[in-house]
Amino acid sequence: MKLFQFITDKNEPQIGIVLNGKKYNFTKLSVPESFNSLQTMISEGRFNLEFINGAVKSIERNGLLDDYKIDGKIIFDVPILNPEKILCYGVNYVAHAVEGDNPIPTEPILFGKFNNSLLPHNGTIQFPKNIGRVDHEIELGVIISKEGKNISEEEAMDYVAGYTIINDISARKMQIEDLDKGHPWLRSKSYDTFCPVGPYLIPAEVIPDPHNIDLTLKINGEVKQQSNTSRMIFKIPRLINFVSEIMTLKAGDIICTGTPDGISEIVDGDVVTCELSEIGLLSNQVKAL
Ligand code: MG
Repeated sequence: MKLFQFITDKNEPQIGIVLNGKKYNFTKLSVPESFNSLQTMISEGRFNLEFINGAVKSIERNGLLDDYKIDGKIIFDVPILNPEKILCYGVNYVAHAVEGDNPIPTEPILFGKFNNSLLPHNGTIQFPKNIGRVDHEIELGVIISKEGKNISEEEAMDYVAGYTIINDISARKMQIEDLDKGHPWLRSKSYDTFCPVGPYLIPAEVIPDPHNIDLTLKINGEVKQQSNTSRMIFKIPRLINFVSEIMTLKAGDIICTGTPDGISEIVDGDVVTCELSEIGLLSNQVKAL
């Protein structure tokens, strides 16, 4: 079961659901208690199998499911429309630390991105031609379910609503130059469109082990990154615990869990696809302006 955020031909935000490979309008089929954003569904405590299956089953029982099928081309939106925070971890796979000549971290390395960087499935990653090398970074995205502060590792998984795909686009030349000067690397991660995400949000209950997900990134069909989330240095409970001791987490916050080895440059005209087993495929084209 996969849920997604899409835009109708009347420009309305709606929630869609994939069942047995077919797409349906979940906002319409779940009337009367319907939501038009996944973020609201999460914050209202309804992003769970009990609510989702209950809504689908009551329609199926009446033989009406096909009435809600979405036909034609779907315009996907990002799964979380307005997260308060996009929290990112760097150097969270040993092989990625090695390829970047970085020491293996002894505690999580936290940074952030902003909502301006969010880009949906099929959207175009854009950057100025003159900023030097720009890289892809496939990552598992964790979506927070409810407000929490000082969350222990033992409790942390209770704060996960679901999982999605992230491509943490990075202006690498700029990042390295800023690091060399002792400056924050914020700007290298913050261009508009530098956080492709989605298209699907999978309820946490559907993913038995988020630390056993295959990640595969391709450029124009050629495999560049291939790994598994079991190789994360700091696992999801530690990542949630670490940041929650600094700031209050809110429903809909996005945590980017770090990228494995195999990072490489993207250039004008490329098509980048990020595939996570059980979660789906995120595809974006690249435009250097
Ligand atoms: Mg990253």
